Amino acid sequence: MELDRKTYRRVTTLDSNAFRLEYQHDVLTQALRKDIHTYLAEYRFRVPVSHYELLYKDGHVSDIHGFEPMKEKARRAIALREMQWKNSSREQAEYFGIESLDSQMKSAELGDTIIWASPPGTKEDGYGNYGFFFVGKIDGIQGAVKHITMSALRVEYPTIPQVNKTLVQITGRGFNFQNDVDCLANPIIVRNLIREPEEILVSNFELPPISNEQKYKQAMHVLEPAIEAFIARVKNGDKKVNLKLHFNAIENLADKLAAGELKLLDAMHYSKMAYFAPEKLIDQFGYKPRLVAGSCGDTGGTSSNVLERPSFIQKLLGEKDEGMFICPNCHKKSPPPVKDSCPKCHYTKEEHIRKGNSTC
Ligand SMILES: [Zn+2]
Repeated sequence: MELDRKTYRRVTTLDSNAFRLEYQHDVLTQALRKDIHTYLAEYRFRVPVSHYELLYKDGHVSDIHGFEPMKEKARRAIALREMQWKNSSREQAEYFGIESLDSQMKSAELGDTIIWASPPGTKEDGYGNYGFFFVGKIDGIQGAVKHITMSALRVEYPTIPQVNKTLVQITGRGFNFQNDVDCLANPIIVRNLIREPEEILVSNFELPPISNEQKYKQAMHVLEPAIEAFIARVKNGDKKVNLKLHFNAIENLADKLAAGELKLLDAMHYSKMAYFAPEKLIDQFGYKPRLVAGSCGDTGGTSSNVLERPSFIQKLLGEKDEGMFICPNCHKKSPPPVKDSCPKCHYTKEEHIRKGNSTC
């Protein structure tokens, strides 16, 4: 047990150094809050559009706080998948995509548009039936620093031919992507658009209903007390198990609001309980949330939203982020590096891949 804890500490210090540093700043409260919103918007409310900002700085596209280049996040996502013997081709494609974006951004000018398609991965890998088109506007340049306003537009059941057709219509260029990985590896920056992306997306794809957006906004207002109480727990260094139960409660309230199974007023009452009766809230809503396609029963682990992967809650709650190898056969944890066989039951990576078991 003691050894485990030591290993855990060593690994987390190595792996989430940036995270620890960042948490000393208040801005991290904002980043965590944004993460929670992003996660609920994607998995519980199926919000049609979300907006956020990116910064191109020191040759890299980063989050708006400029803490960490996207490339670094992508690299971490690859390492995480590989450590668990999971297919990382998508994460590798994202990495190349971000690298390409970094280099295209060098010569990007004010008013240029970024277009990046992210259709879902396979069902076997835990992805849902939806994908995103990222559309970014370069709307501010100061020396070598460029500001990007990004929209992630969610599309339901996108096929690769549909994606190709859409890209052709928007840009006037030729596209012949073969799969999701091709799309992810190839974002483009366009100076003169043929048509407005939103206009084409609306005519080519099924989009989630606009009412999801309204539901989401109301829910975020109602859930604010529960979310703020959660952030306070994080800041106080509360135990992971408590964080997890509290987060479950937030997610279950969100789920019920999204499904129309809970009235706003009742939800508000429960949400406030996070302050005056947290145990009661957890008793009632701390259970494991209903699974939704794409979430893999996991906190944002298989998000199809490349640019907005909620990495902070994943770090806080995700088992993977303990930095331990969890054997898909015996489910026992082992400290890294675990190469090609489980130290506990000797199940091999080769065997695992042969079984086609690279799912969550
Ligand atoms: Zn094992």
